[in-house]
Amino acid sequence: MKPIAFDELKNKSIKFIKGVGESRRSLFEKLDINSVFDLLTYYPREYEDRSKIKNIADLENGENCSFEGTIVSNVNEARPRRGMVISRVTVQDSTGRITALWFNQQYVRKALLLGENYIFFGRIERKLNKLQIVNPVFEAGSSEVMKKSLKILPVYSATRNLGQNVIRTIMQEAVRTLDNVQLEDMLPEDIRSRHKLAGLKESIRQIHFPGSAEKMQEARYRLVFEELFMLQLGLLNYKSLAVHKGRGIQFGKPREMEAFITFLPFKLTTAQQRVLEEVEQDMESENVMNRLVQGDVGSGKTIIAVIALFKAVKCGYQGALMVPTEILAEQHFKSIKPLFQEYGIALELLSSSLPKKQKQGIFDGLREGRIKVVVGTHALLENTVEFQKLGLVVTDEQHRFGVRQRTILAEKGQNPDVLVMTATPIPRTLALILYGDLDISVIDQLPPGRKPIKTYSVNEAMRERINNFIREKVMEGRQVYIVCPLVEESEEIEAKSAVVTAEDISNNVFRDLKVGIIHGKMKSAEKDAVMKSFAAGEISILVSTTIIEVGVNVPNATLMVVENAERFGLAQLHQLRGRVGRGGEQSYCVLFNQSKSQVSRERMKIMSQSNDGFVISEKDLEIRGPGDFFGTKQHGLPELKIANLYRDIEVLKLAQNSARELLETDPGLRGNLRLKQYLSGYFGEKVTLS
Ligand code: ADP
Ligand code: MG
Repeated sequence: MKPIAFDELKNKSIKFIKGVGESRRSLFEKLDINSVFDLLTYYPREYEDRSKIKNIADLENGENCSFEGTIVSNVNEARPRRGMVISRVTVQDSTGRITALWFNQQYVRKALLLGENYIFFGRIERKLNKLQIVNPVFEAGSSEVMKKSLKILPVYSATRNLGQNVIRTIMQEAVRTLDNVQLEDMLPEDIRSRHKLAGLKESIRQIHFPGSAEKMQEARYRLVFEELFMLQLGLLNYKSLAVHKGRGIQFGKPREMEAFITFLPFKLTTAQQRVLEEVEQDMESENVMNRLVQGDVGSGKTIIAVIALFKAVKCGYQGALMVPTEILAEQHFKSIKPLFQEYGIALELLSSSLPKKQKQGIFDGLREGRIKVVVGTHALLENTVEFQKLGLVVTDEQHRFGVRQRTILAEKGQNPDVLVMTATPIPRTLALILYGDLDISVIDQLPPGRKPIKTYSVNEAMRERINNFIREKVMEGRQVYIVCPLVEESEEIEAKSAVVTAEDISNNVFRDLKVGIIHGKMKSAEKDAVMKSFAAGEISILVSTTIIEVGVNVPNATLMVVENAERFGLAQLHQLRGRVGRGGEQSYCVLFNQSKSQVSRERMKIMSQSNDGFVISEKDLEIRGPGDFFGTKQHGLPELKIANLYRDIEVLKLAQNSARELLETDPGLRGNLRLKQYLSGYFGEKVTLS
């Protein structure tokens, strides 16, 4: 048998799996499942454990489980309304009784015999101390044979057209195709044995169709370990490349630094001073700086970048500041320009909307070294951008970029120092691991005199009062954001909802006010035009999707209304809310909560009680669980398919150590070429592993 690598199955279409025809293929495609590899790594979301048989007295509300009992009543059929039949029967074991009921499944009347034994499986409900199970599956008899057929079944994220049973069946076929192949294990043998990890093939089989809960745990452990190991290996390999690539620049201590800092329009906070010191130390050392500055919205990250750029220029180097949007680029440019002008530092804005000739002028200026600092978007990454002597690269709102993009810019210089900024609040331990290739500084303090944004959670009954409040603010000369509901995975629908809202209010309640709209489906130039006119005060109410969440700074906007706030992650709401409260005026955030659930109410309460991004994210975790909060996608890393960075933190530490050890004994992975190749495929474009 010729061994094949797991990732070779990426080249094998799921069409080759029994039961997959063209129509199912296209349904799977919607789930991003194209290859056999994609399918086999579509891991179960959870399991139905039919294998454990509990006593009826021990059944708990909300759990999915099995019990065995005797039918002690006739099947009763009720018809509460047309087209609905509810069948009920009482089941009993030596410990208690339970009512089983089914909707529109009349076959049960014939299938269940009074006095006979059955095993039931389903979701238990306990209401006012009465137990019931709704639509359970059941099997007759209590023979050992019967019990053996009880299994732990996988539960996949299904869609309307691709149901649970179909996915299970196809998955079974896919797992079966592995029977006759020898899968090459990518984890080095010694790591596998040291951590007692199960084999790859066995793990894939067990994760989908576990023989027992223990086997499933073993399989999961192995797959989680592998995933985190690959993640860490990629990041660490990358970091060691960065560090060993040669010496960095040793910046000096220019005379003018003190004056520059003293004559800033404000005094740095203690936190800013501390972070600046860390940055300066890095810059003055001979190692290449690779530092992340993390700080809440409004904590004043920009000025750290500005001072670092100043230092670089005064030491004879050029600097670049990259941001994710044109709006932000322009904003930074405008705020930095006056600070640099006094010291004769040539600063330019490179935006893709500039006329060709002007762009060419900037390219020339950078290449010849006349321009000292450039602010821009992804446009900075293009080949045409060259520097004479690039010494410092800063990326703002790092979570919007991939790891790869950060390096493309850095590669335009000779080992320049790199500084990245993000407001995404994540606990420090996790940040260290997630940003395994960066050192971290935290600005954990806001500038003085900030008035906390007053935040209110309201329901539909308050609509008119909120509309009056909006009008009041506009009459006072202030501006307002109305943020439309988040529609996950569909920018299109999100955009539509914004368009509809904007049309509605500009034709009705706010007919007499200037209403603008901005969403992700608009062309970049259109977006810029709208933002410019909002910044200039020509628009009073800006209806928007979540695209305004990063960096936008219009201090005159003092009210934000968020529709369907319950759909947002709290971290995201916090980012959004950071668009107001940027001037001296009292600012407000109104959250329309359309959900009546307890969890939603608690989450909204957290938002109204705290203005601290770290507190908010931690509380959110507590009540909601991590969900996609640590979604690696937003950090420009490969998506994790099975590991959970919160729950699996212990495994993560082990995997990280293993990855570190491997790189120490085999730097650059020259002795593990297959692994290295696998890793490149795993990281895709995001990280180069040269
Ligand atoms: P963020 O960390 O969200 O990027 P910014 O750097 O945009 O925050 O700063 C937000 C606002 O606070 C800016 O208007 C900036 O000029 C101001 N600011 C920054 N540092 C201070 C400070 N130490 N004292 C007063 N205002 C400050
Ligand atoms: Mg910022």
